[in-house]
Amino acid sequence: MPVLEVNALSKIYEGKISTIALQGVSFRMERGEFVGVMGPSGSGKTTLLNVIATIDEPTSGRVAIDGRELHRMSEEEAALFRRRELGFIFQHFNLLDTLTIEENIVLPLTLDGTPVREMENRSTAIAGKLGIRELMKKYAFEVSGGEMQKTAIARAMIHRPSLILADEPTGNLDSKSSREVMEAFSFLNQEEQATIFMVTHDAVAASYCHRVIFIKDGRFYNEIYRGSNRQAFFQKIIDMLSLLGGDTYDLSTIRL
Ligand code: ADP
Repeated sequence: MPVLEVNALSKIYEGKISTIALQGVSFRMERGEFVGVMGPSGSGKTTLLNVIATIDEPTSGRVAIDGRELHRMSEEEAALFRRRELGFIFQHFNLLDTLTIEENIVLPLTLDGTPVREMENRSTAIAGKLGIRELMKKYAFEVSGGEMQKTAIARAMIHRPSLILADEPTGNLDSKSSREVMEAFSFLNQEEQATIFMVTHDAVAASYCHRVIFIKDGRFYNEIYRGSNRQAFFQKIIDMLSLLGGDTYDLSTIRL
C-alpha cells in the first residue's frame, strides 16, 4: 500500500472571482520515498501541501495516508491522526524558544505520554544522527539557523510518523547550512525509511530527492527521477524549471 495516495485532487477557491488552485492532481508515494514538489509561484504547491496536511479541504478528489482517507475523518480523529502520523517542517523552523533543543525534539512524544526514559533514548539517538547532540541543553534561540532546522527535523521524525511534510525547509538558510540540512535530511530518510514530501523553490534542495514532481497552473506537469548522480539531477531540475517558466527562480544564486 502506498504511504500517500493523491487521486484526482482539485481545489477551487470560491469568491467573486473563483481560483482553480489544483486541477486533477494524482500521484503516489511509497514508503521511504523522498519527493520534492516544484512549480512557479501560484502554481498550487502550498494548496497541495495544506490539503495533504488536512489544513485545507479539497473541492473534489481524494487523499489517503496509509490507506486512510483524511478528509472523511471527524475533526478529533483528524487531529489525532495529524499528531501521530504526520511530521511537519517549516521554513521558519517553528521551535519553542522557551524550551531547550532536547525539549523541542521530544515534544511530539510528550504530547503522547511516552515514558521519559524512552524519550531520552530516542532523542539522543536521532540527535546523534543529525550531529546536534552536544546542543541538547541549549535553548532554541542560542543555536544557528541550520541547527534549528536540524532540531525541527528531529522533532518531525521522533514519533516515526507515516509521512513528513516539509514546506521550504531551506528557505531561511544560507547555502552552507542548506546543504548541511539537506544532507542530514537525506541521511535520515535512508536510515529511518522516512517518507518525505517537500515543497521547495531551491533546486539544490530538490536535488537530494528521489523524485521531483513539477506542477503548473494547478496541474501535474512532469516528474523526474534522480538516479545515482545528484549533480546531473540538479542540472535536469534547472532545465525543467526553465521550461516551466515563471519568474520566481533566482538562477543567479544557484549553488552546488
Ligand atoms: P504556490 O504555493 O505554488 O505559490 P498556492 O497554492 O499558494 O501556490 O496558490 C495557488 C492559487 O490559489 C493562486 O492563484 C493563489 O492566488 C490561490 N489561492 C491560494 N490560497 C487562496 C485562498 N485562501 N483564497 C483564494 N485563493 C487562494
